[in-house]
Amino acid sequence: MTTAPFAVGMGYDVHRFAEGRKLILGGVEIPAARGLDGHSDADVLLHAFCDALLGAAGLQDIGHFFPPGEPRWKGAASTELLRIVFARVKELGWTLGNADIVVIAEKPKIAPHTDAMKLVIAPLVEATPRQIGIKATTNEKMGFVGREEGIAAMATALLWRK
Ligand code: MG
Repeated sequence: MTTAPFAVGMGYDVHRFAEGRKLILGGVEIPAARGLDGHSDADVLLHAFCDALLGAAGLQDIGHFFPPGEPRWKGAASTELLRIVFARVKELGWTLGNADIVVIAEKPKIAPHTDAMKLVIAPLVEATPRQIGIKATTNEKMGFVGREEGIAAMATALLWRK
């Protein structure tokens, strides 16, 4: 365990689009033609955030805590995964300083939903919405995101000890 009173972590995740699935990002259902494929609700934004928290705390990644294919997590709400992850981080004495999350998607438009996401996420990590940055960008039509094959997300989290 680090002796410094703060620790930073980063996370990255990507999920493919799939027909017949709801699009859940940041714990919010977003109107869209397709959702994301995954064992849980495939909330790519929350998965990246979970990995940022786990990384900052020096814990193993989200796949270790919630193995893909484990029946228990089939269709799981990623808000519940985040709640569990934050409990582990908190056990080690950490508090969230702030998080900054970027969603990379060609479609649909994410920005109109970021305030709602912050309201969902903040209480799960004992924070205020102002401590949760969520930004969205396209990939300028390049690569797998540009071809609308899926959505990617990156997150950083700063933990600190009082
Ligand atoms: Mg994932």
